[in-house]
Amino acid sequence: MRIEYDVKLDFKDVLIRPKRSVLTSRSEVSLEREFRFKNSGATWKGVPIIAANMDHTGTFEMAKALAKHQLLTAIDKFISPADWQVFATRNPEATAASFVSVGISEEDFVKAQEIIKVSKVKMICLDVANGYTERFVDFLKRLRDNYPDTLIMAGNVVTGEMVEELLLSGADVVKIGIGPGSVCTTREKTGVGYPQLSAIIECADAAHGLGGHVCADGGCTSPGDVAKAFAAGADFVMLGGMLSGHDECLGEVIEEDGVRFKRFYGMSSKEAMEKYHGSVAEYRASEGRSVDVPYRGAVKNTVLDILGGIRSTCTYVGAHRLKELSKRTTFIRVTQQLNEVFVAHQAK
Ligand code: 5GP
Repeated sequence: MRIEYDVKLDFKDVLIRPKRSVLTSRSEVSLEREFRFKNSGATWKGVPIIAANMDHTGTFEMAKALAKHQLLTAIDKFISPADWQVFATRNPEATAASFVSVGISEEDFVKAQEIIKVSKVKMICLDVANGYTERFVDFLKRLRDNYPDTLIMAGNVVTGEMVEELLLSGADVVKIGIGPGSVCTTREKTGVGYPQLSAIIECADAAHGLGGHVCADGGCTSPGDVAKAFAAGADFVMLGGMLSGHDECLGEVIEEDGVRFKRFYGMSSKEAMEKYHGSVAEYRASEGRSVDVPYRGAVKNTVLDILGGIRSTCTYVGAHRLKELSKRTTFIRVTQQLNEVFVAHQAK
């Protein structure tokens, strides 16, 4: 047993220090980024925020709405090839901004191949809760052999040495995050995890050293957190909870005592496992929770709020473009970041 004593940080532990700037308005800030990826050689241009491949947020409706703002969507892995085909035919622009998600079972692989064939989707999200297994790395290599020119994002991991291994095994983008998610219970159930801000800083450093990219996945609760993730070095940021509860999300609007909400659950929750696999396998604990989130209407308003926040962050540190945000950031360690005295009295 060993203990690491240097402090690892979460979004809540820091603020971004303002800097002198010649920017006069946040409308001067560009959030567009352009990447060329390490292994596939593929290129991409847009606003690097991705809706999570959870069944609530990773929907075709979400992809259509987000594509209008140049954002991406990782479609959940339970969608059939036939539905993908219809979507791709009717919405070529949204398909160009969508990932197909795949796990590491043989069945997943066959299904993903079929989806790629019928939809011509150009981005793959290889997603497992624990990206540290040899089986996962072998699957990634196989996927890369089969799709040499396709963008592959793979995860999740939280440490530099594993980021390097995944980049050397074929990933273009490595997804970072174990345990920070809004409906994730991994840390309570297993005691495993890594504070997300430090994970991003360390993993981005490792990836950029090899010409690779990282996607920060999980733990953002506000536009300020998304800005901090980019400031920490994330090339992409993936959002679940922040995009939940909208019209474009899976599930009906439920009304109780005049309050409207939607059901949102972790993809390893009992609810998701029963829905997609019939039951929770006995050897594993469910590592996700189910919550009722307030209904929030069209996702467009939330997207504009997030993008407005990040533009404003850039203005405070004098970054003309999102690309400069990380270079211009000094994080300061704080003991409190929000004044919550009136939180319980929020006007409707
Ligand atoms: P959020 O943006 O809601 O904080 O985090 C979204 C991320 O949480 C997802 O992209 C995924 O990586 C992770 N996640 C989703 N469902 C579960 C789950 O049931 N268990 C765990 N451990 N993580 C989950």
